[in-house]
Amino acid sequence: MTIDFANLQYQYQLYKTEIDQAIHAVLDKSNYIMGEEITQLEESLQNFTGAKHAITCASGTDALLLAMMALDIQPGDEIITTPFTFIATSETIAFLKATPVFVDIDEKTYNIDPSKIEEKITAKTKVILPVSLYGQPADMDAIQAIADRHGLKVIIDGAQSFGSTYKGKTDSNLGDISITSFFPAKPLGCFGDGGAVFTNDTVLAEKMKSLRVHGQSKRYHHQYIGMGGRMDTIQAAVLNVKLKYYEQDLKLRQEVAAKYTIALEDTDMVLPFVANEVTSSWAQYSIRVKNRDTIQEKLKEQGIPTAVHYPMPLHLQECFVYLGYKKDDFPISEMVSSEIMSLPMNPYVTDEEIAFIASHL
Ligand SMILES: *Cc1c(COP(=O)(O)O)cnc(C)c1O
Repeated sequence: MTIDFANLQYQYQLYKTEIDQAIHAVLDKSNYIMGEEITQLEESLQNFTGAKHAITCASGTDALLLAMMALDIQPGDEIITTPFTFIATSETIAFLKATPVFVDIDEKTYNIDPSKIEEKITAKTKVILPVSLYGQPADMDAIQAIADRHGLKVIIDGAQSFGSTYKGKTDSNLGDISITSFFPAKPLGCFGDGGAVFTNDTVLAEKMKSLRVHGQSKRYHHQYIGMGGRMDTIQAAVLNVKLKYYEQDLKLRQEVAAKYTIALEDTDMVLPFVANEVTSSWAQYSIRVKNRDTIQEKLKEQGIPTAVHYPMPLHLQECFVYLGYKKDDFPISEMVSSEIMSLPMNPYVTDEEIAFIASHL
């Protein structure tokens, strides 16, 4: 048996006719930049998420930048976030010459631990930036309460969590600005790079629309320093098709996760934990194991691919040496980084594959 980790090819074959037609419609019109497919997608994203404004952009990374620039993040400002995430979460903070301030994670959800946030707030703190890791929103009520108490803004890095919910609201519809990514391997992926920002604030929405096109107010008149951050029309065309089936994809991902959990229940591995009143989009099904290298190697021999999200927390990355963190600063992030391992996860993992993976684990 050979098992595909994200099974992108299978999904393309499933929707091939419709997707090919949608792509060719763009080619026939040659409306490559900001074609009507973009407007269509933004409306559908608003409907899907409940957020008042959905603004597409070139990637999840650009979405993070747009959000921070819209909130006027300046050099020296501090943004509180998690060290247990993909580099983009903090790279974008540093790119704007602001300072990422790390807070350790909760041992069960692997998301930022709200009880450790307040001690890190200073006069320079502007934003709290939780990540909805593996698809699960962080403890948003607690985080929002801290932000409100200290007059801070909240940006949610929902790159992995499109369609997840917290107390009945999608995580695109929480915080001041929420972002997502449509990178192919994310739960809702396009055929290249893509992303979006979400907000209920009309002023922020207008500013992000402008920032996305070089800060222009009207053609060749520039109100802000912005960026070239638009999504390609072709990517929007792909997403317009895939979004129609996304509710079903989410359901299937949830089923796959539930089946993994049943199959692995009686082992000594630490299985994913989803908090009360929260749903995950199951970007990853990640377990914690001892002897990870050996296990990965043995599974690989059986045709079972695994991945590590993420092997090194951000405070220990070479690019962040200048921040002055050291080993043992965030013990939970470090422990989880050394044990975490993701199993094949996509809507189409079969019962047979789950049984096979579980038996070898
Ligand atoms: C993927 C990812 C990003 C970046 O998204 P891109 O679309 O690849 O730029 C940011 N944050 C997290 C948590 C991610 O997983």
